[in-house]
Amino acid sequence: MAGTQPGLLIVLCGPSGVGKSTISRILAERTGVRYAVSVTTRPKQPGDEKGKTYQHVAKEEFFRRLDNDEFLEYAQVYGDYYATPAHPTLDQLQSGLDVLLEIDVQGALQVRHAFPDALLIFVLPPDQPTLLQRLTDRGRDSEEDIQKRFRAARREIAMAKGSRAYDYMVINDDLERAVQEIMKIVRHRKSGGI
Ligand code: ADP
Ligand code: 5GP
Repeated sequence: MAGTQPGLLIVLCGPSGVGKSTISRILAERTGVRYAVSVTTRPKQPGDEKGKTYQHVAKEEFFRRLDNDEFLEYAQVYGDYYATPAHPTLDQLQSGLDVLLEIDVQGALQVRHAFPDALLIFVLPPDQPTLLQRLTDRGRDSEEDIQKRFRAARREIAMAKGSRAYDYMVINDDLERAVQEIMKIVRHRKSGGI
């Protein structure tokens, strides 16, 4: 629609298991934000329905789409590939809708570069034992995968704390409190704040 203000691109980033999907789902329910569906080469696993919704594809299909320039950002995470399809996200933003991406740190930096006005929020766990507990509670990954994600989380958190790429760091201690804090940040940005 001519004259419509573009929507806000919101990126929720943070270690696996910190609560990004849980928060994203609540934000999508309570606000008009669209929660983007990612493409991944990671095979579907039992318990997937409780987490982020993915379109699971074969590697060939992923790379065909990558070569075709169909992705807004992509990354290899824990041996699998993940990407945000450029459409419908770009169309939604253009028509004035806010879009929420829940992606890893590599993807977040690509978005920061391509969309300097995007709102980047890094979600932190209250402490390391709690993160390990949440990774376990998800009931989706093997013990080996949980440990892989936990080791990566410690590196990601240290790097994020030393990075200027993120606009805000939010601790997901109490879920409702964290959701309220993020909603306040979004409202602030949409009303013209930094
Ligand atoms: P992510 O998407 O970051 O990998 P999830 O949203 O799947 O993380 O959350 C991981 C686990 O932690 C889930 O079992 C979820 O219910 C739980 N969880 C998320 N946020 C909180 C919270 N604030 N307090 C307690 N448990 C939480
Ligand atoms: P999981 O397999 O645990 O759902 O996700 C593993 C990691 O991939 C998480 O850090 C998650 O945020 C990230 N991820 C999910 N979708 C995307 C995406 O589209 N792009 C990028 N760069 N990372 C993603």
